[in-house]
Amino acid sequence: MARYTVPVCRKCRRAGMKLYLKGVRCETAKCAIEKQWRNKPPGAHFWIRRRPSEYGVRLREKQKLRWYYGILERQFRKFLAQAQRSKGSTGETLLILMERRLDNVVYRLGFTPSRKAARQIVSHGHILVNGRGTTVASLKVKPGDVIEVRDRTSSRNLVRTWLAEEEGRVVPQWLSADPANCRGEVKSLPGRDDISLQVNEQLIVEFCSR
Ligand code: SF4
Repeated sequence: MARYTVPVCRKCRRAGMKLYLKGVRCETAKCAIEKQWRNKPPGAHFWIRRRPSEYGVRLREKQKLRWYYGILERQFRKFLAQAQRSKGSTGETLLILMERRLDNVVYRLGFTPSRKAARQIVSHGHILVNGRGTTVASLKVKPGDVIEVRDRTSSRNLVRTWLAEEEGRVVPQWLSADPANCRGEVKSLPGRDDISLQVNEQLIVEFCSR
């Protein structure tokens, strides 16, 4: 018999908060965070946990952002370079660039239960942007863009099943959704307040400019 149970969702455990990476599971009692916090702090050796160093705190904020949007370090660095080139606050611009990713928008419109699923349906060609097919999940949407599910029975049925499961999910103000037609539109650029992840972007910028 196994002595330890393998943690199901390590990223949320490491981030110390729910990142909602597993779709509907995150809302149920099966959530690893909910389970573990009922009894004890995370980890097998929870009683010897030390205060994290300043480096550790900053690293965790950066990783939290990467895990939340499901991107690799290299992609993260590209976004950061772009944010650094732009005017205004680097941290805030970085978050807004992430939020504008097509896979995130598909998820935020309620078409899929998670960003991971959203990335998959984009890369499998189920999504059209302004009437044209794309498989680029990192594509950045802009105001006026129309995002819709390809008019194909298999694509629409897949998304309709998820839409039914995700009924009641709040669509952010910068997007408008038309679930009946599997369609959505970008009304404006997102603001800092539209990003639900609790993250300190200043610490991320400090970590990356060491
Ligand atoms: Fe995180 Fe969701 Fe797993 Fe809970 S179920 S630990 S919120 S990914």
